[in-house]
Amino acid sequence: MFNILTIIGARPQIIKSIAISRMIKEKYSDTFNECILHTGQHYDEKMSAVFFDELGISRPDYNLNVRGGSHAYQTGEMMKGIERVLSEKHFDALIVYGDTNSTIAGALVGVKAGVPVVHVEAGLRSYDKRMPEELNRIATDHISSLLFSPTETGLDNLRKEGFRADVRQPDFANGKKRVAFHCGDIMYDNSLHFSQKAEIVCKDWFESLALPDDYILATVHRAENTDNADVLRDIMEAIISLSEDMQVIMPLHPRTVNAIKEHLGEEQTERIYNSHGLRVVEPLSFLQMTMLEKHSRMILTDSGGVQKEAYYFHKPSIVLREDTEWIENVQVGASILAGHDMTRIKAAFEHFKSTESDFPQIYGDGHAAEFILDKLKDWLEK
Ligand code: UDP
Repeated sequence: MFNILTIIGARPQIIKSIAISRMIKEKYSDTFNECILHTGQHYDEKMSAVFFDELGISRPDYNLNVRGGSHAYQTGEMMKGIERVLSEKHFDALIVYGDTNSTIAGALVGVKAGVPVVHVEAGLRSYDKRMPEELNRIATDHISSLLFSPTETGLDNLRKEGFRADVRQPDFANGKKRVAFHCGDIMYDNSLHFSQKAEIVCKDWFESLALPDDYILATVHRAENTDNADVLRDIMEAIISLSEDMQVIMPLHPRTVNAIKEHLGEEQTERIYNSHGLRVVEPLSFLQMTMLEKHSRMILTDSGGVQKEAYYFHKPSIVLREDTEWIENVQVGASILAGHDMTRIKAAFEHFKSTESDFPQIYGDGHAAEFILDKLKDWLEK
């Protein structure tokens, strides 16, 4: 039996982790004993607790309750807490997800404590080092032992950066080589798994929203869009403008709520919260979000996760960024990068209103979690 420590912290990691936890319960309960450590990066009810109950995630075995603070403060506190846990109990591997401060904190402490690090969502790049997420991804990839990339492009990126299997590893590896795989996206596993459940659980709630047949689902939360007043103003103006044409529903991330308060004037704030065509709601549960994605006409977002979920439910997406780690979406014509420019956002909207997009299967076959656990088992047993 191998002891695995899963590190989660931010909303998308909590959601991603259930794909692996579910598969451990279904198929690998004799092989892996999973403990969950929640750093507390996201902590309020709607950004964290709601997902545990709804998705059936076990309560964390450890909760560091780090909460807010600067990047350095957060990462430092997380590292201290993770180190404490690793000194108390033996773990055979540590799993980190994605690109947040919880990811890099877990990876750094793990590798230095002699615990092999598994990076799920390895190899993704926006090639924009102004993004804290990009720094976290690159650093985590370069110190992890097992790297699992959701896309072919991700695996190529690792090769381009000189990924080498023969780099000498700390003692824990007993001469084992670093490995990198293309495994498909575990979020595709989740979207397939929870799609039907969302229809059942959220039916009444969805009907109570009384949305028209065609509506846009919008999310904005990335620091590059919320921290700069001009950028945020442009994006919100574009959304208000689209909402005159098609109903928009927008679950607002706490960071965006604060940014609107801090950066936008009274008049625009009033129009955001009280426009006829724009409905602002609190952050939603994953099943509610899934339901809204499935029934939307198109999606407007700066979220990595939501871009892909749009794709899984065959919805075109307008991406409020200049680049994306999910470049395949753009290459096949299912996403358009529109930045924060009203003209480009509107042009993308008109394009998708009149054009059918194609959604070839580029994110695996929905069995990424099983693949990851199979490879991890092999690696540890060798
Ligand atoms: N999500 C959610 N409720 C919301 C907004 C998003 O459950 O109100 C889910 C969404 O379906 C996706 C994940 O959160 O699975 C994406 O997280 P986020 O946008 O915070 O981060 P990113 O993917 O950009 O790292």
